[in-house]
Amino acid sequence: MHNPSVFRSMHRERFGADPAIFVAPGRVNLIGEHTDYAEGFVMPAAINFATLAGISPRTDGKIAIYSENYGEEKTFDAAALPAKGNKHWSDYPMGVVSILKGEGHKIPAFSLSIWSDVPLASGLSSSAALEVATAIAVMDLIGATYPGPVLARLCQRAENEFVGANCGIMDQFISVNGKENHALLLDCRDLSYKLAPIPDHVALVIANTMVKHSVAGGDYPTRRRESEAACAVIASHRPGVPFLRDATLEDLEKWGHEMEPKSRMRAKHVISEDLRTVAACEALLKGDMKELGRLMAEAHRSYSRDFEGSCVEADAMVELAQDLPGLIGTRLTGGGFGGCTVNLVEQSEAAKFAEALGVRYAARTGITPQIHICHASGGAHRLE
Ligand code: ADP
Ligand code: MG
Repeated sequence: MHNPSVFRSMHRERFGADPAIFVAPGRVNLIGEHTDYAEGFVMPAAINFATLAGISPRTDGKIAIYSENYGEEKTFDAAALPAKGNKHWSDYPMGVVSILKGEGHKIPAFSLSIWSDVPLASGLSSSAALEVATAIAVMDLIGATYPGPVLARLCQRAENEFVGANCGIMDQFISVNGKENHALLLDCRDLSYKLAPIPDHVALVIANTMVKHSVAGGDYPTRRRESEAACAVIASHRPGVPFLRDATLEDLEKWGHEMEPKSRMRAKHVISEDLRTVAACEALLKGDMKELGRLMAEAHRSYSRDFEGSCVEADAMVELAQDLPGLIGTRLTGGGFGGCTVNLVEQSEAAKFAEALGVRYAARTGITPQIHICHASGGAHRLE
C-alpha cells in the first residue's frame, strides 16, 4: 500500500471524510551510538521506509485513531485526554496530542489513520516516524507551526513523558529534518546540525539480525548508568564535565582507575565514538568513503568490546559482510543487543551483497534475516 491513494480511500471508507496526508520517515544511524544522552554527536540518515498519517476533522467530540498495521481502532474523548500512556501502540500518537495540549493548543475532535512500512520495533525508529507523522498532521489541523528542532523535541517529550521510554532526540530529529541523499551530523547538545552528502553510487543496506536480547537489569538503562557513573568520577576532578561529551581520553587515562572497570570501558566507547562521529562526517564531506568505512569498523569494535552492546548474531552479521564485494563499511546500528547492522555498499553490488549476506547469516545462525536496500530520503512533509 505504498500508494497514498489507497491509503486515502481506506481513510475515507472508515471515517467518511477525505484526509490530509502526511509522511514521516524511519532512520538508520550511520555512526554515533549511545552518544546522544551524553550530549554528543550522532550521524543518522532518514530512509525510504515511512509512516503515513491521514487526518480529518470530526464533529462528535471524539478522537479516533486507526492503525492499519495492527488493524485496530481506538477512540478517545477530545475533552478528557488521558494524562499517561497505557502500554498500547496508541500511546505514541496520543502522547503527541497530549504534549501539544500541554503547549496550550486546544485539541479538537479528529480521525487519524496510520500506516507504516517501517519495520516495527526493529531499530529503524517506527516510533519516531509515528510521532512525527502524527504531530505534523495534528498541527496542520489546528494551524500550529514549529521550527524543525522544536518539533523534534516535542515528539521526543511525547515518548519520554507519555509513553515512558527514555529515548534521546536523534530519531525524532532526523525524521523531521532528514534530507534526500544526505546524512545528518547532529550535535545533541544544542541541536545544531550539518548535512553531508551520501554519494549516489552508495546504498544503505540494512540487515536485521531478527534477534533482540536483553541483559540483566535492562540493557539500555544499565549501559546509560554505567557511562554516567564514569562521567561523575571525571566531574569530581574536573567540574566542567557534566556529560561525557565534555570528557577526553586523557581524563580517562588520569582517573579511569577510580572507576568500576565496566564503567571505564563504557566511557571509553562514548568518548571515542564522539570523535569518530565528527571524523565520519568530515570523511563524507570529502567523499572519502574508505576512511568512513574504517571509522565504522572501529566504531563496531568499540561498541562490541568496550560497550558490550553487541551480541553473537550482530557480530556475525558484521563479520560475514567483511569480504563481500562492494562493502564500504558495516556496523551494528541502534540501541544494541541485536537489531540491525547498517552496511554502506556500492550500489552496483547492493543486490548481490544483500543476497550473499542473507545466505551466509542463515547458514551461520539458522535465522533467516530481513535485508533491505535503502537510500537516504527527505524528512517529514505533507503529501499533496
Ligand atoms: P522502533 O522505534 O525501533 O521501531 P520502538 O519499540 O521504539 O521500536 O517502537 C515500536 C512501537 O511503536 C510499536 O511496538 C508500536 O507500539 C508503535 N508503532 C510504530 N509504528 C506503528 C504503527 N504504524 N501503528 C501502530 N503502532 C506503531
Ligand atoms: Mg523507537
